Amino acid sequence: MAAFDWFWRAMGSSPTKNQKQSRAIVAGAGAERYRDAEDAELRAAAAEAVDQREIVDGEVERDGGIADAPQLLAALREIARRSIDLDPFDVQLQGTVRLLAGDVIEMATGEGKTLSGAMAAAGFALQGKRVHIVTVNSYLARRDDAWMGPMFDFLGLSHGAIHEDLTPEQRRDVYRRDIIFGAINEIGFDVLRDHLIIRREDEVRSPADVAIIDEADSVMVDEALVPLVLAGSEPGPAPMSRITALVKSMTEGVHFTVSPDHRSVFLTDDGAHFVERHLGLDSLYGTAEEQGGSTGKRKADGGEQQPAGQVLVQVNVALHAEHLLQRDVHYIVREGKVALIDSSRGRVADLQRWPDGLQAAVEAKEGLQVTEGGRILDQITIQALVGMYPEVCGMTGTALAAGDQLRQFYNLYVSVIEPNVPTQREDEPDRVYATGEERDRAVIEHIVEVQASGQPVLVGTQDVAESERIADDLTQAGVECAVLNAKNHEAEARVIAEAGRPGRVTVSTQMAGRGTDIKLGGADESERQDVLDHGGLRVVGVGRFRSQRLDNQLRGRAGRQGDPGSSVFFVSLEDDMVAVGGAGSELRAQPEEDGLMPHKRVLQFVDHCQRVTEGQMLDIHATTWKYNKLITDQRAIINERRRVLLDTDAAWQDLSYHDVDKAKELEGDGVPKNVLEQAAREIMLYHLDQHWSDHLAYLDDIRESIHLRAIARESPVDEFHRLSIAAFGELAEAAVRDARETFTAATIDHGGAHLDGLGLKKPSATWTYMVNDNPLAGSGGSVVGSIAQMFR
Ligand code: ADP
Repeated sequence: MAAFDWFWRAMGSSPTKNQKQSRAIVAGAGAERYRDAEDAELRAAAAEAVDQREIVDGEVERDGGIADAPQLLAALREIARRSIDLDPFDVQLQGTVRLLAGDVIEMATGEGKTLSGAMAAAGFALQGKRVHIVTVNSYLARRDDAWMGPMFDFLGLSHGAIHEDLTPEQRRDVYRRDIIFGAINEIGFDVLRDHLIIRREDEVRSPADVAIIDEADSVMVDEALVPLVLAGSEPGPAPMSRITALVKSMTEGVHFTVSPDHRSVFLTDDGAHFVERHLGLDSLYGTAEEQGGSTGKRKADGGEQQPAGQVLVQVNVALHAEHLLQRDVHYIVREGKVALIDSSRGRVADLQRWPDGLQAAVEAKEGLQVTEGGRILDQITIQALVGMYPEVCGMTGTALAAGDQLRQFYNLYVSVIEPNVPTQREDEPDRVYATGEERDRAVIEHIVEVQASGQPVLVGTQDVAESERIADDLTQAGVECAVLNAKNHEAEARVIAEAGRPGRVTVSTQMAGRGTDIKLGGADESERQDVLDHGGLRVVGVGRFRSQRLDNQLRGRAGRQGDPGSSVFFVSLEDDMVAVGGAGSELRAQPEEDGLMPHKRVLQFVDHCQRVTEGQMLDIHATTWKYNKLITDQRAIINERRRVLLDTDAAWQDLSYHDVDKAKELEGDGVPKNVLEQAAREIMLYHLDQHWSDHLAYLDDIRESIHLRAIARESPVDEFHRLSIAAFGELAEAAVRDARETFTAATIDHGGAHLDGLGLKKPSATWTYMVNDNPLAGSGGSVVGSIAQMFR
């Protein structure tokens, strides 16, 4: 830590000072202060500890502050004992203090973050703030709500969990409570659905003041730019099958080149001519204006004739699917469908799709039925979603290494909370080999040796294909092992429960979010002493990950709650991470006979490579956010407009003013005022939403195609800004113009506006999914990455 002190001072924050402060607060709380207090006394002590302000009519309003933190913690400690039978450790209370101060806390797996977070939620709620505890899935939301609920009940705070099985009415009810547990995607989908209501009373969410985000690094960094999408049943154009066939017939090195790091594929001039010749096009490289007509807008109906720009996008997407996305690394094929693999969690990402064209291109590549994408009605990234909360804090096992991103994108600081019992894990220096083959041989030899000693081994691999290869090699070497990857995560709980038995070998992909702990000696801990005697769990990493955080997530599986344990990584200079991070640098060192390179210089080089890949991810994040920020800002303007339309009679005012005759006629027919206002409102909102959806499709198009065109004058982001701002400027105007036409043409009576007759039907069904915008993340790159590269 010492090495970072200057840095924290420079940042105006000192972890040491914060730690001292929170230790003092916890010490001030004491362990026994309210031991003998009556329940009512406890409640009063908790309420009194937060700032309150009398307001005129005698009601008490909490104005959001903590008057007496030690008292609050002392009360919460005793309440936790009585209500949920957990006696909070001092370190858990320290975590609560830092959460209440608005930090992201780092607490190791198994240290009891759930309780720390729940006590912080109670602290916020007592101040009169509505709290969302954001989990990674609905299972955890329900589990934690049931588990921690009695503590909130004790304080008279209402609470509940949002999950898939609730009706809109039930959701609305849960959102009105004080403390709400919910998975990030469930909450996000509700935001999207609320963006499309046509009556205020249909809104499901109530505004929240604070978000406490669990697994904060996964959610706010790894998944930050995953858009959640609400789509309607109107199908979009599927990619042309002849493009898939054409791309398959192209030759690497002649028609296209693949960058050495396998992140990007580029069409050569010959390749472009090849496509133009076969598809009978003049030029693949049109400008955006040419592609979309004079307004710069894409034609909503798609149509048969595809503009050159779209062909270029499709060719590029097909090349990506064919040459950069690998089966069993980026996706698996299961039951005739392409299932994406979540690169940080190493499991199938059930709700995710790639951006429509890419999903279809991969399906075509695998010879599967191509699924059609719907019309995207609205979307929001997780980063934008998090940005909607006035106050945010979070918790995770590995926050420190995500500190840069958390500060840059969320203005959040990390507080490290020491473990309750000091760690006994020994992290050995990497074993670096010259080639991958030598590394793998050494890994197998090592595991054979460790297993023979009776120690359990957890082997961490980079992807599904590698986990299977290592498992095969182990079997060949006579070692029985269990495999944990995206193909079999149903077996996950059982495999993890047994992974700590003596001599057990478990080969796994990334460990993030794999809920349960590995208990030494098996789920029942019956052989615990045996394993303790052999040094606890041994973690063996095959290749360092692209970020230290992922390395730490793996290491952190050993030595939990003060258990003994150890970890070591086997690395080769041929690893993706080293090749990408070390590109352009030179390393001179002589390997030993078996390929091992134990030189200090080599170890430093590997660390250097990882810092480079981390830096690249940060750049990609920053660049991608520049695109998304603009869309987020534009959406905020639309939301404000929707708010006015929903809550006032602005729509009727405008439309009746522009067709006075029609308005008079309707009033003359005796149609009630509220019906007229609602009819006008629906007409306005219909066109506004329709134009927004068109706008999103247009932005998607320009974003896909912009970096493929040679732009000498401007950077792609600037170009994107220019085009999107121009298009957005016309959006509101066009929506109002269309609404006025509709008002004049539509039949409006006591039953409201009948828009179906005009072909203005809302999609009959909507569905939600998440877009994996980062399909190459697993191998150290992404489609987005290739865009980022071109900025340089
Ligand atoms: P994390 O999310 O930090 O990995 P959990 O919140 O799931 O950890 O808690 C891990 C385990 O520790 C749970 O089984 C929980 O019951 C237990 N635990 C948490 N706090 C305490 C405590 N104060 N005393 C005893 N057990 C605790």
